[in-house]
Amino acid sequence: MGATIPTVKLLINGQFVESKTTQWRDVVNPATQEVLARVPFATPDEINAAVANAKEAFKTWKKTPIGARARIFLKLQQLIRENMKELAAILTAEQGKTLPDAEGDVFRGLEVVEHASAIGNLQLGELANNVANGVDTYTVLQPLGVCAGITPFNFPAMIPLWMFPMAIATGNTFVLKPSEQDPLVTMRLCELALEAGVPPGVLNVIHGGEDAVNAICDHPDIKAISFVGSTRVGTHVYNRASLNGKRVQCMMGAKNHAVVLPDANKEQTLNAIAGASFGAAGQRCMALPVVMLVGEAQQWLPDLVAKAKSLKVSGGTEPGTDVGPVISCAALSRIEGLIERGVAEGATLALDGRKPTVPGYEKGNFVGPTIFSDVKPGMTIYDQEIFGPVLCVVGAETLDEAIEFINANPNGNGTAVFTQSGAAARKFQEEIDVGQVGINVPVPVPVPLFSFTGSRASKLGDLGPYGKQVVLFYTQTKTVTARWFDDSTASHGVNTTISL
Ligand code: NAD
Repeated sequence: MGATIPTVKLLINGQFVESKTTQWRDVVNPATQEVLARVPFATPDEINAAVANAKEAFKTWKKTPIGARARIFLKLQQLIRENMKELAAILTAEQGKTLPDAEGDVFRGLEVVEHASAIGNLQLGELANNVANGVDTYTVLQPLGVCAGITPFNFPAMIPLWMFPMAIATGNTFVLKPSEQDPLVTMRLCELALEAGVPPGVLNVIHGGEDAVNAICDHPDIKAISFVGSTRVGTHVYNRASLNGKRVQCMMGAKNHAVVLPDANKEQTLNAIAGASFGAAGQRCMALPVVMLVGEAQQWLPDLVAKAKSLKVSGGTEPGTDVGPVISCAALSRIEGLIERGVAEGATLALDGRKPTVPGYEKGNFVGPTIFSDVKPGMTIYDQEIFGPVLCVVGAETLDEAIEFINANPNGNGTAVFTQSGAAARKFQEEIDVGQVGINVPVPVPVPLFSFTGSRASKLGDLGPYGKQVVLFYTQTKTVTARWFDDSTASHGVNTTISL
């Protein structure tokens, strides 16, 4: 008899509980197809229980002193650091990315936990003294109640950590629905959160897919939803939850362009582009799946192909691996299908990464670095988000032409320009209509002193995750206008005007 496959638990009211569902899905190692665990699709009763406990816990949590809440995140950041290697190993096993990249995934989330531990400085209101005679006006930023998070497969540590620490530190309680494809590292982080002192009911986790997400969108006791994932699902979540009166932020799909000017440092630029296009097997929302080579830089294509060819494709635990497997067999066949379509639609396949030989990982979902040149809008490989290690190269004669081209793409998540000219970089920064801009930085994901600021079709909702913006997202601003009478205050009788 084979070893029993562990089940992923729900987290309800501080207890890790077995689901009573009949619907389960395997969590699979994408490098080997080994089944690591089985994840339940929570029943409606279980989802309601998670929300009910979060609602109950809010009554006391919202009154917990700001310092006491923040101290939990001071402890959590320490626990994450102490368990970094274990967290990265879990993440690599279920998601596929290399171990160093998995540590990066955890680390970028850890930065948000550190930020949550300083929440006192962020959740301050404002006060104006003497707005009228003897009258002061001030604001208080009050938590909303039960908030929910829905997360994608590609950053199973970082993205849950974008959400629950800031929501909880600002005084809310939380229901998290991790990706059903790789929930294990998320669950380990939640265990650490309880160990750090998050009280029962303050953080709850349910699992599932479409039905669980719809239940979150519809539940009357959930006040706000933070979603990260594809444009298709994010748009659905935004529309459905907004109609139900919820505050919603959705960070969605992308098609990020890099612009390479001929004065750029060639070696550093090509290294940066290869890293950002093929790292994490292209499964980052801030990856660079399109590069625009401007003018003389168009001659650099063979060197870019050579760089891509030199990358090692293997299991994420193998030392020296650059490109791990993609998340699932379905993702692999979708990506291979898109490559076939690119060829059929007339793009030039400058490097074909399909069906690489990966000794020791013959069953893995591997596709090696792939490069298309002569790519044009209207081709499926340009119009769709491939979310695999496939780079589309487009030529341009001028920076103006490149800016116009990028601004015509509906997505606005990230972009990067490579140049040694301050004037060109500044022109790009000013004229490009994309929310996150890198200047000689290929993956410009802001640190949590700022917020994640994708724009246009890559985002719905006004306020971004983490940083200052998310404090406003997770709180309601209340404005108080106050006058205190004392015996010396003269009474002027009834005043029926609008003045203070
Ligand atoms: P996804 O949209 O398939 O899944 C996201 C979440 O939605 C998951 O929790 C999933 O269970 C749920 N879901 C899936 N199908 C659903 C349906 N039909 N109805 C309701 N809920 C559903 O995304 P993914 O494949 O896990 O992640 C990759 C996508 O996420 C890419 O498009 C990527 O660009 C995007 N992403 C964006 C950002 C960003 O910050 N803009 C960051 C990371 C990933």
